[in-house]
Amino acid sequence: MINIAAPIVGAEEKKAVEEVLDSKMLASGKYVDEFEKNFADYCGVKYAIANTNGTTALHTALLSCAIKAGDKVVTTPFSFIATSNSILFCGAKPIFADIDPQTFNIDPKSLEDVLKKEKNVKAVVIVHLYGLMCDMDAILKLKKKYKFKLIEDCAQAHGASYKGKKAGSFGDAASFSFYATKNMMTGEGGMTFVANSKADKYARQVINHGRGGHSVFTVLGYNYRMTNLAASIGIEQLKHLESWIEKRNENALKYTEAFKDIDFIQTPIIPKDYRHVFHQYTLRIKNSKREKFIKHLKENGIGCGIYYDKVLYQQPYYKKLGYKCAFSNAQKAAEEVVSIPVHPLLSDIDIEKIIETVKRFKV
Ligand SMILES: *Cc1c(COP(=O)(O)O)cnc(C)c1O
Repeated sequence: MINIAAPIVGAEEKKAVEEVLDSKMLASGKYVDEFEKNFADYCGVKYAIANTNGTTALHTALLSCAIKAGDKVVTTPFSFIATSNSILFCGAKPIFADIDPQTFNIDPKSLEDVLKKEKNVKAVVIVHLYGLMCDMDAILKLKKKYKFKLIEDCAQAHGASYKGKKAGSFGDAASFSFYATKNMMTGEGGMTFVANSKADKYARQVINHGRGGHSVFTVLGYNYRMTNLAASIGIEQLKHLESWIEKRNENALKYTEAFKDIDFIQTPIIPKDYRHVFHQYTLRIKNSKREKFIKHLKENGIGCGIYYDKVLYQQPYYKKLGYKCAFSNAQKAAEEVVSIPVHPLLSDIDIEKIIETVKRFKV
């Protein structure tokens, strides 16, 4: 079986964890400080706060933008549920806009329609889905016009860039996940970026029970602290990230070339000036053939995944909250997408087998 994802754990990670275990400084400490600094430097930002996972990182990002009960926050309905749940954690109201059918990212035109209709939108959470950044020029233009806080969910976009500027460096805040299957991992882990020292100070309180001094708690906080154990893995993973991204792009290029003449398959695009990091290599399988296609892959030992088979407002909990939107691009994507393995551990033989199996599929 060729798996859809495969965490890479090398001798360096093992040695780093052993070093932390031997030090007995297992909770937050100098490894966390070092990981924050290295990851911030890599992304070209100044303020990074490590925490427990991508969801707490997003919650912390929203709180650092002062999102509170009753606030309106616009986001994409085509993402992992943590994106909109974290808005609910703040007592704020997620409002959805449609996606671009080519990139699967939030469509600036639909976003502007929503901004016009809703008035007083406090923030917009964008998701750089599958490793491709959103249309940043258009979104920054809207930010200027409608004056919302911009939060980037970069859980799938470590190292992705637009015009050489990295994901996470565009917004008022950003979040990353280091879950085991992401492009770099710490088992579970997350990182929040903020834009200034005041927000940094507040975010550090948010992840540490609201602590303001030794035994003084001045704001409502949580325990979202990353451990040295996780950070030591992250420090090693980051050293490999660039070569892993290159490998993902090589694999993706081979697929795109091999599938270009298959008419029921749409392959991912890489618009000019963008660096895709291919967290997922996602095909669109047209003509209602997806189920049969997936069965064919599975029968031939190829793992695949659907991200996502429902849009967020179709989830039972959101239906219960009363959501009744209908965005045709997002819903069509949910019916057609399937991701195939693109991770750096795939061998040339694996890639050949996947290409050959896809080509053999009879519609
Ligand atoms: C993985 C992911 C998250 C959540 O990250 P966790 O570390 O699993 O909490 C949030 N948003 C997106 C887009 C993701 O892919």
